[in-house]
Amino acid sequence: MFENLSERLSGVFDRLTKQGALSEDDVKTALREVRVALLEADVSLPVARDFVKAVQSKATGQAVTKSITPGQQVVKIVHDELQHVLAGDDDERGELKIDNAPAPILMVGLQGSGKTTTTGKLAKRLTEKNGKRVLMASLDIYRPAAMQQLQVLGQQIGVDTLPIVAGETAVQIAKRAKQQATLGGYDVYMLDTAGRLQIDEVLMQEVEDVRDVVKPRETLLVVDGLTGQVAVEVAEEFDGKIGISGVVLTRMDGDGRGGAALSMRAVTGKPIKFVGLGEKMDALETFEPDRIAGRILG
Ligand code: GDP
Repeated sequence: MFENLSERLSGVFDRLTKQGALSEDDVKTALREVRVALLEADVSLPVARDFVKAVQSKATGQAVTKSITPGQQVVKIVHDELQHVLAGDDDERGELKIDNAPAPILMVGLQGSGKTTTTGKLAKRLTEKNGKRVLMASLDIYRPAAMQQLQVLGQQIGVDTLPIVAGETAVQIAKRAKQQATLGGYDVYMLDTAGRLQIDEVLMQEVEDVRDVVKPRETLLVVDGLTGQVAVEVAEEFDGKIGISGVVLTRMDGDGRGGAALSMRAVTGKPIKFVGLGEKMDALETFEPDRIAGRILG
């Protein structure tokens, strides 16, 4: 997922670590290349700029250039700063707030982002890894095929789905899911909301109405990681209108440039909680900033 960025950076740092002594100018030149590499990976401009500034001040403030292994020191600073930009100051990763059963999880996002697939993946994970009883419901009243898709997924992974009743509104389905989750003793109920190809007012209003009825414990935005900065813009819009608690970046198995992962936290302030790494129901991982920083640096 970060192949190009990783390759670019290892080029820069190979040169740096091979050089014995480093002047401040050497560091500056290397960081200029880092900045270009970040921008080419579709990291947002202010994030790339702040990143380089932070590394620069640490690399020149710590007498790095006078140390025995200056190149390695710079790499270490870059690693720590990558981790910081990926995770922010706190540590919210894959933890979901799903106490107080039945806990509602609202899944939101644009059509085609991987929302239904991710709903299934997460339900499977909560069932198998966390031992939760999960109920899934599709609120996509516009696309009967999407409702069917969730039913089929449910059967495939052995997770219950709310029976489909024709003619209901999204809010009515959400209320029925809440009732069934309560009566049926479920720990979690997941609501897979309708997506559109683009954000529109009707979609947002509908999601807001559902949110007000169920008061979700988690509102997870599913975005396509391949779309780079657009994914971050989508997250800002959803967060502004609905308020999200976290992000799931899908298609991180593809050859995306990785910018979405690097900009998301810094721009939106929201944690990436999971990444989707394929179409299969097991292809979901918690987002681990330290591991990803390691992967970026190769
Ligand atoms: P929705 O419209 O947002 O509900 O999107 P879907 O869940 O139907 O997914 C759209 C397509 O993306 C499907 O073909 C999924 O199999 C695929 N997909 C979802 N997540 C991933 C992922 O992490 N990696 C890959 N490669 N494909 C994914």
